[in-house]
Amino acid sequence: MDRQRYLIDTLNRWAYEYYVLDAPSHSDREYDRLYDELKELERTTGIVAPDSPTRRVGGEPVKGFERHTHIARLYSLDKAVTEDELAAFFTRVKKTDGDAEFTVEYKYDGLTVCLTYDNGEFIRASTRGNGVEGEDVTAQVLTVRSFPLKIAYRGTLEVRGEAVIRLSVLEKYNREHPSDSLKNARNAAAGAVRNLDPKMTREKGVEILFYDVNYMSEQPLPSQAAAMEFLKREGFKTFPFFKLCGTLEEVQDAVDEIEVGRRSIDYLTDGAVVKVNGVSVREEMGYTDKFPRWAIAYKFEAEEAETTVREILWQVGRTGKLTPLASVEAVELAGATVRRATLNNYGDIMRKNVRVGARVLIRRSNEVIPEILGAIDGTMSETPPPEKPSVCPYCGSAITELGANLFCSNRTCPPRVVQQLTHYCTKNAADIEGMSEATVRLLYAKRGVRKFSDLYALTRESFSGLEGFKDKKISNLLSAIEKSKDITLERLLYALGIGQIGRVAARDLAEFGSLEAIAALTYEELISLENIGEITARAILAYFADEENREELRRLKSAGVEPKRRERVAEGVFAGQTVVLTGSLASYSRTEAQKRIESLGGVAASSVTNATTLVIAGEKAGSKLDKAKKLGIPIIGEEEFLNMLK
Ligand SMILES: [Zn+2]
Repeated sequence: MDRQRYLIDTLNRWAYEYYVLDAPSHSDREYDRLYDELKELERTTGIVAPDSPTRRVGGEPVKGFERHTHIARLYSLDKAVTEDELAAFFTRVKKTDGDAEFTVEYKYDGLTVCLTYDNGEFIRASTRGNGVEGEDVTAQVLTVRSFPLKIAYRGTLEVRGEAVIRLSVLEKYNREHPSDSLKNARNAAAGAVRNLDPKMTREKGVEILFYDVNYMSEQPLPSQAAAMEFLKREGFKTFPFFKLCGTLEEVQDAVDEIEVGRRSIDYLTDGAVVKVNGVSVREEMGYTDKFPRWAIAYKFEAEEAETTVREILWQVGRTGKLTPLASVEAVELAGATVRRATLNNYGDIMRKNVRVGARVLIRRSNEVIPEILGAIDGTMSETPPPEKPSVCPYCGSAITELGANLFCSNRTCPPRVVQQLTHYCTKNAADIEGMSEATVRLLYAKRGVRKFSDLYALTRESFSGLEGFKDKKISNLLSAIEKSKDITLERLLYALGIGQIGRVAARDLAEFGSLEAIAALTYEELISLENIGEITARAILAYFADEENREELRRLKSAGVEPKRRERVAEGVFAGQTVVLTGSLASYSRTEAQKRIESLGGVAASSVTNATTLVIAGEKAGSKLDKAKKLGIPIIGEEEFLNMLK
């Protein structure tokens, strides 16, 4: 019996190395020799141990599948198709527990099976079925080698995995059985397991990848990470990719990594699974009638394509930032032919393994130019990565490195100026209709347009002799330029790119009423605004301190570009007042209250500053109230506010 136990343990260990670890330590011949010896011993002793590898041959065909009720229901997952839905899921979880962590794993495309153990022994395998009841496929699953017959855990256990057939195994099978070729790996795996003859299951080379503990009678595990550790420790085959994430960015990065990685792995996958790691958070979130609320399956969108990188170029943006731009082999994506794709920065190139000649996956995003998600195969490792530019590729000026990004230090770098001018003309800025990037580039090259104010010096003659400019087009452009003089302060601030501010910060600043008033703000006053941070505050100060910028503002003004002061109602109880609302009011929404204030002559501002003359404090007023007290600004409550409105 000692010899028999030794043979069982040795053969099981070798099978574990071969089927679970993918790291065989012994030849098939050695295995067969010991296996034959074991079989002979079992015949003479008449004893077959429950974990004997001879049980794995599969036995006789069965007449039909018996039904089996799962101890715990096997849920399927809610599908989230878009990034927005993934973000919404993230928000829901974080509202339940701000510290919640997430796990990101591959979603395999095969047949879900559930294996039951009791007292350390494998006793049954069943399909998921409808989640409550499945079919008993013990005889079939026994022929699969990627799980143990004996485990250390002694309680009742149900583990969950996906029965799959490797793509390479499927290919080989189809080559060797041309008359019985299997269409795809999912159907092949399902057909192989749900087959009345277990020998057929064995022949197809099915394996099971385990990813969850569905039920544990004693000491249930606290998290998904602990469940994966448990499965590995007990000898179940798991897939090595497993990410534990805290932020939405980390979750998205892990999902992106799967989206790229799945092209080169040997299994059929159709997405990523994102789960809440902690069981306590899961319990708090619970289930809908169909799905757990704490997990989703992220299915990849079709708007992706594979292509090859031809060249990596650098683009200079309006801030001087250098962005890598890959020229790629033309490929159809979402109805358009794509020849260029972007990357974020140099670190992004390295992280995503992008090289000239590499096969990459690109995805259409909200931007016009699609982004590179990553290189598909790891075969380019000998090709050196593209070099990090040491000088600006357009003007040869020195490069400044700020955080993860590179910047051209030359403020008159040609592409940078073209981008600034183009930005000035966009819809949310000065809104000069018809002034495209191509037109700007032409005016830059042929007519010496450099400054925003140069646009207002353009005449009909400026366009004569430029290709593609007929009378009608010139008239339209000139009238669009003229119209742009009528601009709000908010849009002008954004158009000029002062301190690189966005539209939200521009709106905050515009509350000060004029460029002069903004230019007079101190650092402290700037950072006290809700949407302006330290870097932006310094950039705004630097902008107004620069003589060249001040000259440009004067030129714009004399060209007639002067933002109108916001139309104010001169009469009313709030006339001349700058009013800030903080907290919530019972009788008005914030927007309604602001409208009432403005209709009665006041300015409704969002931040408390020296310019504030009155603060209305509602329920749960926060830091703005503290600040108003510190500055000695008059504060009134809701009742008083309502009285003023009367
Ligand atoms: Zn440059």
